[in-house]
Amino acid sequence: MTHYDVLIVGGGAAGFFTAINIAEFNPELKIAILERGKTVLSKVKISGGGRCNVTHAEFMPKELSQNYPRGQKELLGPFHSFMTGDTIGWFADRNVELKTEEDGRMFPVSNTSETIIDCFLSETKRLNIDILTGYSVNAIDKVDNAWNVKTTKTNFTCEKLVIATGSNPKMWNILQRLGHHLINAVPSLFTFNIKDPRIEGLAGIANFAEVKIPNSGLESEGPLLITHWGLSGPGILKLSAWGARELNKYDYKFPIVVNWVPGFNSDSIMEDLMKIKNNSGKQKVSKYPQFELPKRLWIKICKASEIVEEEVWANVSKKQLEALAIQLTNAEFQVNGKSTFKEEFVTAGGVDLKEIDFKTFRSKKYQDLYFAGEVLNIDAITGGFNFQNAWTGGYIAAKSIAES
Ligand SMILES: Cc1cc2nc3c(=O)[nH]c(=O)nc-3n(C[C@H](O)[C@H](O)[C@H](O)COP(=O)(O)OP(=O)(O)OC[C@H]3O[C@@H](n4cnc5c(N)ncnc54)[C@H](O)[C@@H]3O)c2cc1C
Repeated sequence: MTHYDVLIVGGGAAGFFTAINIAEFNPELKIAILERGKTVLSKVKISGGGRCNVTHAEFMPKELSQNYPRGQKELLGPFHSFMTGDTIGWFADRNVELKTEEDGRMFPVSNTSETIIDCFLSETKRLNIDILTGYSVNAIDKVDNAWNVKTTKTNFTCEKLVIATGSNPKMWNILQRLGHHLINAVPSLFTFNIKDPRIEGLAGIANFAEVKIPNSGLESEGPLLITHWGLSGPGILKLSAWGARELNKYDYKFPIVVNWVPGFNSDSIMEDLMKIKNNSGKQKVSKYPQFELPKRLWIKICKASEIVEEEVWANVSKKQLEALAIQLTNAEFQVNGKSTFKEEFVTAGGVDLKEIDFKTFRSKKYQDLYFAGEVLNIDAITGGFNFQNAWTGGYIAAKSIAES
């Protein structure tokens, strides 16, 4: 039976960040990371399309917390201790410069996740942290003042235990046996499958839009991307994250209403349509897109409003104009299933946040049991926020462990 001061279960983003910070705060502690896989940091490697979207250029704790459908309230306090600026500084201190893209996402300047992995691996080496791969933890017991940790290879004991296993159902069962309550897992960050002639053949076209799900209170706005399977893009992904639980209940079959011209509604846009009709009577409706809509999308919208290709504005009837107003601002689509968003996907669910002390990321049930990362019932919209949760939790847990 090997003994460590601190054992970290899970060699992902949260596990490494916690381990490195504990060792920085207290170099005397004997620390090991137990990872069930052959390699560590496998999600970091594929993250952000291989570039690792490390964090997001949002520097106000409250605004940052608003990107977490689960964890918004709980992360507000922790963000006052460690958030974006600290993440940037932490990596800069280790010679990893981050850059910000137009939409706020932050990546290593090198444009490769290997930079983050190299940084973590050289830091664990410098700080003498043991990385034990191929050790899958299958039981955890509290015996007197120590933890007994059983793995597929050998068993360990430790004083302090950090669970950073992401959304792994096996670990959830172990935690349940320890008396923790787990919120069941449902997918978050997915795209909507829609088969509809109005978007058929338009894959690749994007437009800023508002989307809502009738009678659910769920709505969002942002770029919508038409794909071969339906709709994607930040506007849809945000909706999938905020609605993760609700949409699961609907079995991913529900209507959505798209407003392709945010700022207008079907009444206010009628005035503009009337003006165009009066001023451009001889112009073919389909030929010249209005409201800065992409041409091919405009043509489909006209067609859906029963305006034929050759129709000129002067000949458009009131009924057609009303249909056009609806198709522009209130277009209903039926969602029938979901698809995985390749760039980033997460699971909603995990350890019930009520059972965590967010000043330390410690279990309220056990003094020396800590959690960091996706194992908690915390998840965010896409954009670097999920890693920021891992860095914030890992840092605060590390500080508490090193000081206690
Ligand atoms: C394709 C993809 C791309 C992504 N891109 C981004 C991005 O660019 N930016 C962003 O912010 N987020 C991104 N995410 C989300 C982000 O990767 C996760 O939120 C983050 O990795 C969570 O870190 P974690 O350490 O909590 O869990 P994980 O990274 O899942 O690590 C958990 C580790 O624990 C190990 N483990 C599990 N059970 C056991 C056990 N019983 N014993 C021992 N070890 C165990 C696992 O093998 C794993 O290595 C992406 C996700 C995916 C899937």
